[in-house]
Amino acid sequence: VAEVRQQTLAALDQLRRQLPVKVLPVVAGQALTTEKIYQRKNPSLISQTVAEVQMADNAMAEKAIQAAHKAYASWKKVSATERAAILDKAADLMLKKRYQLMATQVLEVGKPWAEADGDICEAIDFLRYYARHMRELAHPLRVGHAPGEISQYIYKPRGVVTVIAPWNFPLAILAGQVTAAIVTGNTVVMKPAEQSSLVAQGLFDILKEAGLPTSVVEFLPGYGEEVGDYLVKHPLTTTIAFTGSKAVGLMILKNAAEVKAGQQHVKRCIIEMGGKNALIIDNDADLDEAVDAVLYSAFGFSGQKCSAASRVIVLDEVYEKFTERLVEAARSIKIASSENPDAYLGPVVDEEAYTRLMNTIQQAEQKYTVLFKGESPVGGYYAPITILGNVQANDDVAQNEFFGPIMALVKARDLDHAIEIANSTEYALTGGLFSRSPANIEKVKKELEVGNMYINRGITGAMVERHPFGGFKMSGIGSKTGGPDYLRQFMEPIVVTENTMRRG
Ligand code: NAD
Repeated sequence: VAEVRQQTLAALDQLRRQLPVKVLPVVAGQALTTEKIYQRKNPSLISQTVAEVQMADNAMAEKAIQAAHKAYASWKKVSATERAAILDKAADLMLKKRYQLMATQVLEVGKPWAEADGDICEAIDFLRYYARHMRELAHPLRVGHAPGEISQYIYKPRGVVTVIAPWNFPLAILAGQVTAAIVTGNTVVMKPAEQSSLVAQGLFDILKEAGLPTSVVEFLPGYGEEVGDYLVKHPLTTTIAFTGSKAVGLMILKNAAEVKAGQQHVKRCIIEMGGKNALIIDNDADLDEAVDAVLYSAFGFSGQKCSAASRVIVLDEVYEKFTERLVEAARSIKIASSENPDAYLGPVVDEEAYTRLMNTIQQAEQKYTVLFKGESPVGGYYAPITILGNVQANDDVAQNEFFGPIMALVKARDLDHAIEIANSTEYALTGGLFSRSPANIEKVKKELEVGNMYINRGITGAMVERHPFGGFKMSGIGSKTGGPDYLRQFMEPIVVTENTMRRG
C-alpha cells in the first residue's frame, strides 16, 4: 500500500509539472493541428487546465477514415496470433505505466484513486481476455456433419469500425472497444469522449508502442455532434461500437440506418447505453451488508456509472430500519479532491454535469423527503450525495438516469410489488436483490428484467470474463462486453462447405 501511495503521488507530481498537456489528432501517422481547442479542466480544481485538446474537424475525419480503409487491406491479412500478441504487449505496457495512467484519470476526469486503478486493471483484463479469445476463434468451428463433406465457420473481419466512447471508464471502455475491433482484423477510427481525450491519447501511444502498424487505429479527438456524427454517417464505416447515453445511442442507430452512395455494408451497431438500476431490499436481508453495498453501488465515482444503483426498492416492513442505517452510514462518506488518496468520493465530471445535478437536487428538495444531503466542498464540481425518501415508482427521479450521486428510495408492499417497480423503467442494465430467502432469490432471478443481476452483493464492478456486461430494453442491444459473444460481433462467420473427397 505504501508503494502504491508513493508511486501514485510521484506520478501525480510529474503530471502536474507538464500541465496543460497538448492532445492532438493523429491521422496516417501524422499529428494534426486545428484552430479549435477544448480546454479540459481538473474537476477537483477548476482553476487548473489539464489538457488542451485540438479538436478534429470533418476534413480530418475524412482523412482518418480513408487511411483506416486503406490500412484494412493489409491488416486483415495479419494472423490472429500476431494481432493478439500486440494486445498482450499493450497490456504489459499498461501495467508498466499503471501509476502514470492513474494520475491522468485522477486529474482529467476526477476519478478517486481506487476507481482509477480499477479502470486500468479492467482495461488490462479486456486486452488479455480478447487476445486469448481471438486465438480460440481463429480455429475454424465445424458446424455441419455429412459423409465426404465438412462445413466450417471461418470468422472474417468487417472493415472500418468507428469507436465512440464515454468518459466515465475512460481507459477500460475505450480500450475494450478498440482492441476488440483490431484483434478481430478490423481497423478503427477512435473518437473518445471530449472529457477524456488525454487518457485516450495514452491508450493510442501504448498501442503504437506495442507495435500496431500506422492507421490500424486513427486517433480522432473531437466533438461528438461534429466528427462523431460524420464518422457514423460515413459510407466506409461498416460497424459502430458506441457506449454512452440513450439519447446519443438512439440517434446513432437512426443515422447508421441511412444508406449513402458508395456504401457496401449495412452498418452493424453495437450500442451500450444507460441504466436506472434498482436494488431490492427484502424483509429478511442482512442490513449491514445491504447498506454497505447500496452506498457503494449508488455513490461510487459519484454515481457516474451506467451500473449505479440509483433506485433502492425497500420492502415496507424493513423500510424504516434500513433507511435509518443507510443515512447513518452515509454521514461517514468523505468527499474531497480526487488527488487526495483518502477521498472516497470526488467531484462530478464537468460544469455541465454539476449544474444539471444541482438543479435536479434543488427541484427534488421541493418534492420529496430529503433523508440525507452531504457536503460539497468548494473549488471543484462537488455535487452533494443526496438520498431521497418516499419516491413513487413513476416519479421522474425513479425513471430517468441522472448520472450523479442521487439515490431514490421507493417503498414496496411485497416482493411482487418490488419487482413490478424495478421493471417499470425503460432500462434493463443492472439490478439485484438482498434476501436470505431461497424462494425469493429464485423468483427475482426469473422475473427481474436486467442484463446483469447481482444477488446479495453490490451491483457495480463487473469483472471481465467473470461477469460479461451489458443490458437490453433501452440500455442497449444485448451485447455483453468481456464475454464470449463480444468479439463475434466484429466479424462475419463465413460458412465454408468443402467436398473432402477431392482433397489430394
Ligand atoms: P454521451 O452519450 O454524451 O457521449 C458518448 C460519446 O458519444 C462521446 O464520445 C460523445 O462525444 C459522442 N457523441 C455525442 N453526440 C454524438 C453524435 N451526435 N454522434 C456521434 N457521437 C456523438 O455519454 P457520456 O456522457 O460520455 O457517458 C455517460 C453515458 O454513458 C451514461 O448514460 C451511461 O449510463 C452510459 N454508459 C453506458 C455503459 C454501458 O456499458 N452500458 C458504460 C458506460 C457509460
